[in-house]
Amino acid sequence: MGKVVHIKKFGHITGETPTEMHRRTAWKGARCSNCTSPAAIRILTFVPVEELKVRAPNVYAGLVTDCAERGEGLPVTRLKSSKVSDPKPYLCAATVYACSHCQAAAEKAAAHSPSFAIVEIDRGPDPTSRVVVGAT
Ligand SMILES: [Zn+2]
Repeated sequence: MGKVVHIKKFGHITGETPTEMHRRTAWKGARCSNCTSPAAIRILTFVPVEELKVRAPNVYAGLVTDCAERGEGLPVTRLKSSKVSDPKPYLCAATVYACSHCQAAAEKAAAHSPSFAIVEIDRGPDPTSRVVVGAT
């Protein structure tokens, strides 16, 4: 069982907050794309492979060639949150990190993505909730 550690004690044990640990481990120390402050959120934009083929055939062809040269297939993702039973393959078109100051502007910009794109915002651990550490 994992051990529940309250947020205030977490810092005493690890020397960093859950947010800082998440940034260091999951996001590999990512910084804001705009001002290089430590990242607070990560925004991923996914586009369906079919849309890319139609709207940007040259980009799609280039990707296929690049991946083939490395002996790999396209790095497609089937989004689990999709409501359809057989989700379409998607490609991650953009990964943007934003700090707490640039967050609102970055989220606003992401909301203007084309309608076929799916935007996922990763806010990291909830700073108000408890954190479980150790193996479960
Ligand atoms: Zn920033």
